[in-house]
Amino acid sequence: MPIQRLNQLDLTDRYVFLRLDLNVPLKNGQITDESRIQAALPTLKHILQFTNRVCIASHLGRPTGQNDEEFSLAPVGERLAELVGKEVLLMRDYDKEPIDQALRQLGKNQIILLENLRFYKGEKQNDPNFCENLVKGIDYYVNDAFGAVHREHASISGAPYKLAHAKKAVGFLIEKELNALEKLKNNGSPFTVVLGGAKVSDKIGVILNLLNYCNNLIIGGAMAYTFLKFKEHKVGLSKVDDYKEDLMRAIYEKARKHNVRILLPVDHVCATTFSADAKAEVIHSENIPDHLMGLDIGPNSIRNIKNILEGSRTVFWNGPLGVFEIPQFSEGTRAIAKAIGNLDCYSVVGGGDSLAAVNQEKLGDDFSHVSTGGGASLEFLEGKKLPGLKALE
Ligand code: AMP
Repeated sequence: MPIQRLNQLDLTDRYVFLRLDLNVPLKNGQITDESRIQAALPTLKHILQFTNRVCIASHLGRPTGQNDEEFSLAPVGERLAELVGKEVLLMRDYDKEPIDQALRQLGKNQIILLENLRFYKGEKQNDPNFCENLVKGIDYYVNDAFGAVHREHASISGAPYKLAHAKKAVGFLIEKELNALEKLKNNGSPFTVVLGGAKVSDKIGVILNLLNYCNNLIIGGAMAYTFLKFKEHKVGLSKVDDYKEDLMRAIYEKARKHNVRILLPVDHVCATTFSADAKAEVIHSENIPDHLMGLDIGPNSIRNIKNILEGSRTVFWNGPLGVFEIPQFSEGTRAIAKAIGNLDCYSVVGGGDSLAAVNQEKLGDDFSHVSTGGGASLEFLEGKKLPGLKALE
């Protein structure tokens, strides 16, 4: 059965449970980037046109039980109140207190925001009682938390199963994200994929699937050293994650079969240690001396990547090309972000670190789509059925 969309629901005076991704970065209790709140607004505002009986739920960060106050959604509630002109009541202890009763007691201009879902063990454990309590007495469950839709957690993939199909739908953000990712597959070639970051294990699945329909696969970041090692280059002290010869062989065989070009760095910015005061040194070769580690792509690699990007009609980018958090190793990531932003093509960027780089350079408007979900977009492109969507079918 297809998934229902938000504007197929008659929301008038209904009780609505709305799962959003309000996982914003906080510093000393201040929101430092409210992109995710802004991305959630169209759905929230749409619902509020029809009903104020709304209970919003989100996670924030990774609370451990020791540091919960740091991860409170209180600052998010205050900002939401300003943005929608309602009183936002922050509800705690909803693992014990029924949410539906609180909803029934709401005043005309009030809505509920549940305190950080991850303060309760039931969320990550997908506990059936916790799920039941979230949606008991609810008329509609709406999920618009794209950044969390790949999680098998209570509010995402457990709670919706407690309701019939007619009672659940996706919000506008998830719809927009899925359309943007779907378009990558048929927007036109050359389709270039740029992957960086450190963890190869997270990206093997997506690489194998993207090889079915991309033309160029550019590998940067620490991932590149796993590939260079397979190609029998010297990688010195560079981080080599999850080196599995048979998987690497499978990737190259598939690339050959599908005529996909895999591009690796041809030079590197290196140092003896991974630290902010390490002295950066450019190595003009694929091979890295034994006492050095590669921490960014070098100038010739940047030029090669730009050449491929310039001829592309479709581009997907996930993951930094170097340790972009440290200024002397950030040039590769910044240069490639700018190069993609300048292209007249269909471009999508996803992933927390790549997004941070795009925001640092104020390039958000130069991309066709900036995804709010790195992990979710990779799993979608991997061809996996996302648990949060499956639960709405
Ligand atoms: P991931 O979570 O797999 O996307 O990895 C992101 C992290 O990869 C960032 O924190 C980067 O600093 C890191 N990274 C990128 N390039 C390198 C590199 N050459 N060596 C070590 N870490 C890197």
